[in-house]
Amino acid sequence: MDVWIRWARRKAICKWCSEVITAGTPEVITKYWRPGKWSILTRYHAECWLKQGLDYLDKHPHISKRLAITDDQSKARLLLLRRWATCKCRLKKAIIVSNHKAIERLVSSMHTIVEEIDKVGGVPATWVTMAEKSE
Ligand SMILES: [Zn+2]
Repeated sequence: MDVWIRWARRKAICKWCSEVITAGTPEVITKYWRPGKWSILTRYHAECWLKQGLDYLDKHPHISKRLAITDDQSKARLLLLRRWATCKCRLKKAIIVSNHKAIERLVSSMHTIVEEIDKVGGVPATWVTMAEKSE
């Protein structure tokens, strides 16, 4: 979608308030491109463009992606994330040199980390997809 503002060249009807946009006053124009077809132009009073945008945001509220956990849980979670990263790195090295004892120990540690992190905000989505890939 293209959006631009300009001085209205002719009389038009505002999509938001249905009132007349007088020639020579600011108007906001939106243009929807439809592949292989015609495009749709929509006109607004400059103020109405802002109002319709804010109205859209009101109807689609911001959803925070932050986890609802306490500061202590957050600290514990961070430690588990770090332990996981360390294990993952060591596991890669153990696999390269075929150190089966180390692989077993590291996989076991990672299982424990998964169980622990599940209690402090849940298992990260990337860990889940990683487990699915290895199966
Ligand atoms: Zn208007």
